[in-house]
Amino acid sequence: MAKLQAVRGMHDILMHDTPRWQFLEETIQTILSQYSYQEIRLPIVEKTELFKRSIGDNTDIVSKEMYSFDDRNDSSLTLRPEGTAGCVRAGIEHGLFHNQTQRLWYSGPMFRHERPQKGRQRQFHQIGVEAFGFNGPDIDAEQILMCSRIWQALNLSDISLEINSLGTTESRSEYRTILVDYFSSHKNQLDEDSLVRLEQNPLRILDSKNPDMKSLIMGAPTLDEHLDTESADHFAGLKEILDGADIKYTVNPRLVRGLDYYGKTVFEWISNQLGAQGTVCAGGRYDGLVEHHGASSTPAVGFAIGLERLMELASFVNMPETTPHVYLLISGEKSVKPGLLLAEQLRNQLPNIRILSHCGGGSFKSQFKKADKSGAQLALILGEDELDNNQLTVKYLRSDKPQTTVKWSELTNFLSTSLQFN
Ligand code: ATP
Ligand code: MG
Repeated sequence: MAKLQAVRGMHDILMHDTPRWQFLEETIQTILSQYSYQEIRLPIVEKTELFKRSIGDNTDIVSKEMYSFDDRNDSSLTLRPEGTAGCVRAGIEHGLFHNQTQRLWYSGPMFRHERPQKGRQRQFHQIGVEAFGFNGPDIDAEQILMCSRIWQALNLSDISLEINSLGTTESRSEYRTILVDYFSSHKNQLDEDSLVRLEQNPLRILDSKNPDMKSLIMGAPTLDEHLDTESADHFAGLKEILDGADIKYTVNPRLVRGLDYYGKTVFEWISNQLGAQGTVCAGGRYDGLVEHHGASSTPAVGFAIGLERLMELASFVNMPETTPHVYLLISGEKSVKPGLLLAEQLRNQLPNIRILSHCGGGSFKSQFKKADKSGAQLALILGEDELDNNQLTVKYLRSDKPQTTVKWSELTNFLSTSLQFN
């Protein structure tokens, strides 16, 4: 039989790593709630049409990266490649946008059929943040400040912010013509992807990761000269707040986003410690998307953090402990039930305690080995002698203190004075 293996590009996160994931997620979530963003939980599968309409047919995601399949009644479904589309769908479906503002976040796996490599998986995780109903640059700034606070909490130092304005649809279409002229006159230098984009979505050529295209892209005319007043004012407003908050950024006039519906502000947080896939967080404004789905026009701005990439950069200090405080050795058939009940009582009385009760029997020696390996501070031993005398033997696993015995009735008291509950 073939060796059992996970799907290529999709990874297990094993128990040694989950504490770091939990810490990362909790740190971010705490900060999101400091800003009064609320969690929304969305399905992992949506109708394929939703992504096609939201992200755009000519994007990498829709044209080559989606995991789509027909379900049993032949409707085409897709494993979500990103969270914005589903969030917008849910907001429209539940009437969350009409005459209201929303600050929302979600978290979970995303799926894209890309070539697996460092920083690129086929199942990866994002925390996504979206705000609806806000027109001005204040909310764009708020989201960038929030990111900055997250990086600080995770001790990230080497991360830089790039921002750009994509203007309104009208100013982009004027720029589009100029860009098409430029790239058309250099058609022989375009790679295959860019030739397709030239026809369908020329702005996306600027997003090419092909190093051979770099100098051509650097020579391309930029949008800033064609920016409409409204977008220019919005962008200036954003920069003013960032300056005031002492957030360092560079304006990258070639920064575009992979999705069609972005306009005005776009931004990326980039680390140079991750090699080619250095973008840890990316976002921007997509004022047209809600209306595009038939609901009343609702301005929106959001971003997504790639958690695998962030995991590489974050420093994990002050992580909560997970090793047990106490290992309960249970020796002899008769001790099993009272042992487990005793552990229950301790958990009732000392809610912060982590007790690992031995299950599965075995010799005292083998249980003791496990107790030592568990990292616990104390071993509590319940054998037949202890059972007869309503007491436990206590062995100190991390110090030379001599062993002692404690009465069951004294146990809570004893543990609360002798353990450090961290
Ligand atoms: P890239 O230019 O790297 O392909 P993207 O524009 O496709 O990025 P977004 O859709 O903006 O990425 O996703 C936001 C973030 O999610 C990225 O900045 C990155 O941190 C993370 N991300 C995207 N795709 C992957 C992937 N295949 N594997 C791991 N992380 C990813
Ligand atoms: Mg991509």
